[in-house]
Amino acid sequence: VIKEKHRNNYKMFETSISENFKSMLTMESDLRKALQKEQFELHYQPQKNLLTGGIVGMEALLRWNHPEKGYIPPLDFISLAERTGLIIEIGDWVMYEACRQNKLLQGKGYDPVIVSVNLSAKQFHQKNLVTKIKNTLKETGLDPKYLELEITESMAMTNEHYILNTLQQLRELGVLVSIDDFGTGYSSLRYLSVFPVTKLKIDKTFMDASQKQNKAIVKSIIHMSHSLNMKVIAEGVETHEQIEFLREEKCDEMQGYYFSKPLPPAKLIQLLTAG
Ligand code: C2E
Ligand code: MG
Ligand code: MG
Ligand code: MG
Repeated sequence: VIKEKHRNNYKMFETSISENFKSMLTMESDLRKALQKEQFELHYQPQKNLLTGGIVGMEALLRWNHPEKGYIPPLDFISLAERTGLIIEIGDWVMYEACRQNKLLQGKGYDPVIVSVNLSAKQFHQKNLVTKIKNTLKETGLDPKYLELEITESMAMTNEHYILNTLQQLRELGVLVSIDDFGTGYSSLRYLSVFPVTKLKIDKTFMDASQKQNKAIVKSIIHMSHSLNMKVIAEGVETHEQIEFLREEKCDEMQGYYFSKPLPPAKLIQLLTAG
């Protein structure tokens, strides 16, 4: 009997491995088709200036509108896209679309905002990244000062020479650079002071005030950003208390559900003011 049970368990185990493998392969081939079938969309989460209350930026966040599964969040497919290399094509699409839509908004007479685009490690390490971005800006007609690239600490803190060079070229182009999820990775303070980064994005985990040390961490990141001549934005702001605290500590900007979730372009437009 025991042997029988064992065999059944083993069978179940085997089935679940092959099912998982199958669904991964299906996902990979679906992902390949998604670009041609235009199943990707960008949603935008507005970023507010804490002093003026005006919308100064919007983060482009990728959504996959799968024909059977509905909206699939980026964290469920970005790593697969990285592993298969598809992230390059997807990333090119995101960059073009974000610049195109931002230029379109400006053409409609809204006060100009900065669009920020997330870059994955593979994208950031492309040898022709700067040329590609330059061409995208030219094709879409977007002024570089309205494009911000978000990189993560781990991407910035390896291969110092190459990164520094790439960041300098991007800054010369006039594009802005922020460090996303700041405080969750390993960054060296020396790199931070040397890299021409324009903004730090405080990771949303630090907004949790039930962890007492978080307030101290947020304070220090704000003060450090300003001493290094960078702007600072808080992510994941969900309550009024958090906003009060950020204002008191002179944080420049905020982004979070308290003000708005990421929205499709038609909904975002309703929040913008015509200038
Ligand atoms: P991220 O760049 O740190 O983006 C912020 C994430 O936090 C978004 O999740 C956003 O919806 C969520 N968020 C915003 N406000 C709040 C809040 O008040 N509370 C909470 N709990 N969450 C909030 P999303 O859209 O699921 O994106 C997840 C991650 O996927 C992003 O994290 C980014 O790393 C990655 N990602 C998204 N779009 C792209 C893309 O186009 N390219 C690349 N390479 N990665 C992307
Ligand atoms: Mg981001
Ligand atoms: Mg983030
Ligand atoms: Mg994140």
